Amino acid sequence: YQGEKPFRPVARSQYPQPKLLEQRPTELLTLTPWLAPIVSEGTFDPELLQDMYQPLNLTIGVTAFAVGRYTGFVRHFLESAERFFMHGYRVCYYVFTDDPAAIPRVPLGAGRQLSVIPVQKHARWEEVSTRRMETISQHIARRAHREVDYLFCLDVDMVFRNPWGPETLGDLVAAIHPGYYAVPRRLFPYERRPVSAAFVADGEGDFYYGGAVFGGRVARVYEFARGCHMGILADKANGVMAAWQEESHLNRRFISHKPSKVLSPEYLWDDRKPQPPSLKLIRFSTLDKDTAWLRS
Ligand code: UDP
Ligand code: MN
Repeated sequence: YQGEKPFRPVARSQYPQPKLLEQRPTELLTLTPWLAPIVSEGTFDPELLQDMYQPLNLTIGVTAFAVGRYTGFVRHFLESAERFFMHGYRVCYYVFTDDPAAIPRVPLGAGRQLSVIPVQKHARWEEVSTRRMETISQHIARRAHREVDYLFCLDVDMVFRNPWGPETLGDLVAAIHPGYYAVPRRLFPYERRPVSAAFVADGEGDFYYGGAVFGGRVARVYEFARGCHMGILADKANGVMAAWQEESHLNRRFISHKPSKVLSPEYLWDDRKPQPPSLKLIRFSTLDKDTAWLRS
């Protein structure tokens, strides 16, 4: 077959054989009922994924908001990301802040850059949080869609503790909230008032996802953030604030727009909780923080 492109094999062809009949490598569910992988330690071969994704020459974006006292989290966030987040890839950090001078210039590895983007400070912390979806979608439309292939939108009051690599890449990615992974869905803190656009009825819902981590292909993240923003606007027009602000809208939207990949709580943990034996590795975790002081 002359002229046909030769098949380009994965660089490394030797790795442990996948065994159809082997017991589960993890105690966690590995596949959702809509066939999205649930990523946790033991479900993937990091070296194989590295070999497959490295040649694609991808750029991964990260958005993080640091408004008011949250600027104090940026150094630890970036330093830990430099150690663990998408090692060996091009990375663009987008830090949105009301105080650009307060953002430390953390030394970055080759191919990695930081953009500090000024945003307005809102009086109430709820307002900061509910503006994120709007700001993210505008930023993608104006700029990030040209600069990155994938985008992760992360809380800044967190640190990376272990590798976060290409296993997390997918069209639309959600992370299971560390507080609700073992809870029946009727106890999920969804918005339960039908007047809200984030309303979730009893008997609906898959996992309770955290608002601190979502991502995917940049075009899909745009649609997703815009959809959430529309729900937030509709609520505002009706004088409603959803139970957990944008997290409620994010959860509503993930019910009708299912994530194509789900990250286990390894990727969204909370240091204030003891590590359960079912989680082998904590990769990204909330710091113990003085919430009242931060938001005052
Ligand atoms: N945030 C901020 N300034 C604020 C409140 C929130 O920059 O005054 C941003 C910051 O990125 C933070 C995110 O919004 O990580 C979500 O808020 P927070 O972490 O306080 O919410 P929680 O994780 O406690 O639900
Ligand atoms: Mn947080």
